[in-house]
Amino acid sequence: MGVRGRFDLHTHSTVSDGTEPPAAVVEQASRTELAGIALTDHDSTAGWADARAAARAAGIGLIPGVELSTRLGWRSVHVLGYLVDPADPALLAETERIRVSRRERARRIVEAIGADYPIGWEDVLAQTSAGATVGRPHIADALVALGIEPTRSAAFAGILHPRRGYVEPHYAPTPAAGVALIRAARGVPVLAHPGATRADWVIPADEVAELVDAGLFAIEADHPENTSGGGPAALALAERFGLPITGSSDYHGSGKPNRLGDRSTAPAVVDAILEQGSGTTAEIP
Ligand code: AMP
Ligand code: FE
Ligand code: FE
Ligand code: ZN
Repeated sequence: MGVRGRFDLHTHSTVSDGTEPPAAVVEQASRTELAGIALTDHDSTAGWADARAAARAAGIGLIPGVELSTRLGWRSVHVLGYLVDPADPALLAETERIRVSRRERARRIVEAIGADYPIGWEDVLAQTSAGATVGRPHIADALVALGIEPTRSAAFAGILHPRRGYVEPHYAPTPAAGVALIRAARGVPVLAHPGATRADWVIPADEVAELVDAGLFAIEADHPENTSGGGPAALALAERFGLPITGSSDYHGSGKPNRLGDRSTAPAVVDAILEQGSGTTAEIP
């Protein structure tokens, strides 16, 4: 017996850079046509317990997940991991290392911006929930609160754009290491939003071949930020390697234009994820 409707397999809460607590994201999903969602905060599983309780109360499906930050040279590559064991020692150690590096990197970025604009680390902390995975979105929110930038998106296009010189990378494992880590934690790895970039920056096919060897399950080819060149390229990669396709909104609350359920994943693909992932249980009503 499989799931009966579509799932939005990529959402964020205040545990990382979303603007709503995990329970609020789940409650909002229960007011849509969706059969369920996956909560996939960056490098953290801290929202799972609240999301589970909310899913049970609302009678909606929940697949616990994580969005692992990886890097291939200059390219930031995100790998979604569904149903991983949240206590897996290797996964715990790696996500902890990434979160610590993200925090140190954010402090350095804010220090650099602070040389030119009136912003300090306290301003960023004021925009961040305790223990949250810190990212550029929290710096963006601080810039907005201080009246330096008008919106989160404007901050990304402005002060936080790499070409302005303030932003630097954080520690991240390679994508292949990330995929292997998720499989070793009995989770299901999916390449996140490879089409959300210009066609000539899409992850190369020989790298995807390595990810497939490491255990990649699917490609998130249906994503609201797909570009006119990147979207078809992501689809072509899935076809070339015979991988299933997932669709997701990458919801961040009010922090991004993406709306919950904007994109969603077919029941048969959700069923395959539920079959393959055994590191934790899903909440399926
Ligand atoms: P970071 O991981 O700290 O480099 O920040 C990148 C994150 O910021 C991505 O995972 C997105 O969730 C978010 N992001 C990227 N662009 C935007 C935007 N224009 N508006 C809001 N959030 C964004
Ligand atoms: Fe994000
Ligand atoms: Fe992402
Ligand atoms: Zn995301």
